[in-house]
Amino acid sequence: MKFFIKVIIFLLSFEFLYPLTIVIDPGHGGKDPGAIKNGIKEKEINLKVALLLKKIIKDKIPKVRVILTRDTDTYLSLQERVDIANNYSNNNAIFISIHTNSHDKNEDAKGIEIYYFDNSSEKILKERIDLIDQKINIGYKDKIRNILNRLVNSKLTIDSKRLANNISYALNSLPGMNIRFVKPANFFVSSYVLNPSVLIEIGFINEYSIKKDSYLFDISTGIVIGILNFYKENKFF
Ligand SMILES: [Zn+2]
Repeated sequence: MKFFIKVIIFLLSFEFLYPLTIVIDPGHGGKDPGAIKNGIKEKEINLKVALLLKKIIKDKIPKVRVILTRDTDTYLSLQERVDIANNYSNNNAIFISIHTNSHDKNEDAKGIEIYYFDNSSEKILKERIDLIDQKINIGYKDKIRNILNRLVNSKLTIDSKRLANNISYALNSLPGMNIRFVKPANFFVSSYVLNPSVLIEIGFINEYSIKKDSYLFDISTGIVIGILNFYKENKFF
């Protein structure tokens, strides 16, 4: 019995030690390499940046728990990524998904793109609800609940946008960073995660800088400064 109480106290102390949670999601992995160019695989760059983020966050932000959706070269479905993030939805969590861009049309495009969830795109959500209605089963009921939660909670959109803008501002103040835009979007992961969420395309896979560790370190540092400023705005510090 004594041991049981000790375990409870130990677990409670974790909540106390870590009032904030940052979930980092390195895109792709395992059988899904993402973009590939000249032998460079997106999944590897994304993971490198996620591990750097974890290390820098631990150095710069006190009392924060960092969760990686994957910390090795493994495959995860989008739903599995969302499920991991939503395990921490009550812990002042934020969700950062890391990707590396590839070119569809404009081969000259360069720089960083930051997307945030925006529930004002109700048309997209309505289409999704209609689709779910057609396929309704037990598995989908949770998704409907998530969507409705998000529709009524426009604060998530406001916070996601503020998080994106803080990261953009911090990156812009570092040399060698080129922000293409900050935009609303409805990627699967950001649409279903129940916390402020952004998806960052850290650059294009064929850009010279993507191969340089110094660039990956700088961009990771900028993202962490942006997160820290977001928390300061929220009066967590
Ligand atoms: Zn990607």
